[in-house]
Amino acid sequence: MNAPVPKPWVMAIAPYVPGRATTDSGKPAAKLSSNENPFGTPQAARDAYAATATELERYPDASAFALREALGAHYGVEPERIVYGTGSDEVLHLAAGAFAGVGDEIIYVRYGFAVYDIAARRVGATPVVAPDRDYATDVDAILACVTEKTKVVFLANPNNPTGTYTAREEIARLHAALPKSVLLVLDQAYTEYLDPEDDDGGLDLARTQPNVLVTRTFSKIFGLASERVGWGYGHPDIIAAMHRIRAPFAFSIGAGRAAVAALGDKDFVEHSRAHNAQWRQWFADEIASMGNKGVRAVPSKANFQLVLFEGEVTGEQAYKHLMEDGYIVRWLPGQGLPHGLRITIGTEEEIKGVAASLRRLLGA
Ligand SMILES: *Cc1c(COP(=O)(O)O)cnc(C)c1O
Repeated sequence: MNAPVPKPWVMAIAPYVPGRATTDSGKPAAKLSSNENPFGTPQAARDAYAATATELERYPDASAFALREALGAHYGVEPERIVYGTGSDEVLHLAAGAFAGVGDEIIYVRYGFAVYDIAARRVGATPVVAPDRDYATDVDAILACVTEKTKVVFLANPNNPTGTYTAREEIARLHAALPKSVLLVLDQAYTEYLDPEDDDGGLDLARTQPNVLVTRTFSKIFGLASERVGWGYGHPDIIAAMHRIRAPFAFSIGAGRAAVAALGDKDFVEHSRAHNAQWRQWFADEIASMGNKGVRAVPSKANFQLVLFEGEVTGEQAYKHLMEDGYIVRWLPGQGLPHGLRITIGTEEEIKGVAASLRRLLGA
């Protein structure tokens, strides 16, 4: 052997394909491919971040004390039961790394978040994919996949890229039927976009059960995707294990301060949620009105809409057509959805433009 040999499970990982930021022709376009907040981030977050320019030579606080205190006060969770990472992506990796390895199994749903597959394979665990039920999470299908080797179940709620939501009773049923030795990771990256009456009970389970981890992020409604701030909440023993393997310094001083400031702007969050709910519904109705052309919108509770092209016009054609019209969306052949486009609910102007563009393409 005359060169270093990567582990076979590492070479089995299909590289993550991020949302595109530029068009084929290079002409400017609306980026609706990464579920970012069209309103940016609260001004207070920008100010807090900018004020840290004089501290660039300092290491951040490795314990993220200020952020954990702020999260504790905001969500009514115990700061000492919080772990944090470079985006919630890292928190997901920590969960896999602390609880699974070679010979173990990690379950997630078909059309689940792409990072779960990478997180499982990276530690040498075997990914096990539970069938969906018309693109939504099927709790019985997940339970049918559980074996002696199962160590972790990853479930995003709402799910990405489908936007589908699993109700509180179903989450409770899933948890109750799982062995206590299996870590249930409830990925709530989009939870702030839910209607006020929707709560999947994740935080309550994480508070009271020994085997539930909830993950959250500042990348979506808080508009801080660039800053890479994510966190997880669960039983102290789960959190302690994850702390052992995390990088000592997850995110920068500016990122931590911006996150605390963003948490304080309730009006920004509520405006973002209400705008999203209104225009997601409007867009879903638009797609429904073009249903005779073979398109449909999968019911979504997130800040994006999965649109399926099951008629004459293909997902790839629609993707290219939207790109030419100045809208970059996410086409998902790598995730088993060559007929699907995931479209972020942007500004009113953007989402109306997307609908009009699709109408022209479909002749609807
Ligand atoms: C966007 C997203 C995340 C997290 O992103 P980070 O930027 O790493 O915090 C996690 N889970 C799902 C399902 C997402 O869509």
